[in-house]
Amino acid sequence: MRPSYSADPGDDRCTGPRWYWPRSVYIHIPFCAHHCCYCDFAVVSGAASLVDAYLDALEREIALYTGRTFAGYQGHIQPLFVETIYIGGGTPSFLSAKQLQRLLEMVQRYFCYRREEVEFTLEANPTDVTAEKLEILAQYGVNRLSLGAQSFEEEVLRFLERTHTAATIEQAVRLAQRYLANVSLDLIFAVPGQTLEQWHRDLQRALALGVQHLSTYNLTVEPRTALWARVKRGLVRATDEETERRFYAHTIETLESAGWEHYEISNFCRPGFHSRHNGVYWAGEAYFGFGLGAARYMCGTRQTNTRSLRQYFTLLQAGRLPVADSETLRPWERAAETAALQLRRRCGIHRGEFERQTGIPLDYLLGRVIARHQARGWLEDDGERVRLTREGIFYADLVCADCVAAAQQ
Ligand code: SF4
Repeated sequence: MRPSYSADPGDDRCTGPRWYWPRSVYIHIPFCAHHCCYCDFAVVSGAASLVDAYLDALEREIALYTGRTFAGYQGHIQPLFVETIYIGGGTPSFLSAKQLQRLLEMVQRYFCYRREEVEFTLEANPTDVTAEKLEILAQYGVNRLSLGAQSFEEEVLRFLERTHTAATIEQAVRLAQRYLANVSLDLIFAVPGQTLEQWHRDLQRALALGVQHLSTYNLTVEPRTALWARVKRGLVRATDEETERRFYAHTIETLESAGWEHYEISNFCRPGFHSRHNGVYWAGEAYFGFGLGAARYMCGTRQTNTRSLRQYFTLLQAGRLPVADSETLRPWERAAETAALQLRRRCGIHRGEFERQTGIPLDYLLGRVIARHQARGWLEDDGERVRLTREGIFYADLVCADCVAAAQQ
């Protein structure tokens, strides 16, 4: 049975519960100075001349979407209320100061948020961080900067085809800290040729900078990337799983012993600085998404925009939404996906909240999967919550895949 929430802003029920109605928005800026060898995001490199046209198209998409779905009785567009905003990419900081200002004005026009409560993140490349841009960000309420540092080691940065140096990262962080109270760094480990000592130095240098949040990812060789082609041709040897596990174990040990919270498989923070926006994804809650290749999840339907910039422009010029895929999940599929996402969190799945959110008792859906992984020592269950054990974190992908597979049976 379909829930009776309405998408009409004139209707008090339009908000609905968090899994159904978004309080978060993701905006994708696909431009990058260079397409890094390992990256499979929706990215456009070396095309600065297209930024203004992209911002036109992005505004058309947001206006079309909000106008079609939410125009009030006089046809006025109602700004959408949000609690978290995330501008990611690509490299949003690739935009000039003037273009950034235009983007942030657009956000202000179509979304309303309480400045003192919103979590407003922008992703940036260390080389792009300037006082002029930071001033603009702070002026529009951006209060969190996520910097793509990746490593402080020259050799590793060169392998990843990143153009910045350790000194650039340190300067960018120090400058950002003058304007914003919350800075996060992305770091990559298990890069071919990288030693555990190098990774240890990366973690120590990140900690020494006094940032609030770290996202640490092991380098994955994504199909059809330049790195994938090099691995296939035998030019690069991908890191083996055992080494990846050693790097990951070292990450957890180092950051936890420094007093950091390991709150999601790949994410660590100083107490109180977990990412609220990403928390929405891991809770299986709804979010708006706009821009090239952007995903959105609302009213139980998951949609993804086209990844072709040409098609994105053409569809929007013709007044059509640039949606490439749309899928409405069946209740048990939604429940299984919710479980798989929530298991990524160190707090795991709360039985009562899960049933309220999905309408399906956790044990009815996944009782056998939980029992199997509990017997292996990968899940722990205190009757209220089910979560990955310390050992289970290393097998999270397997456990989560089992949850999703259970819904197909
Ligand atoms: S800068 Fe980031 S988004 Fe852009 S190509 Fe490199 S990894 Fe991908």
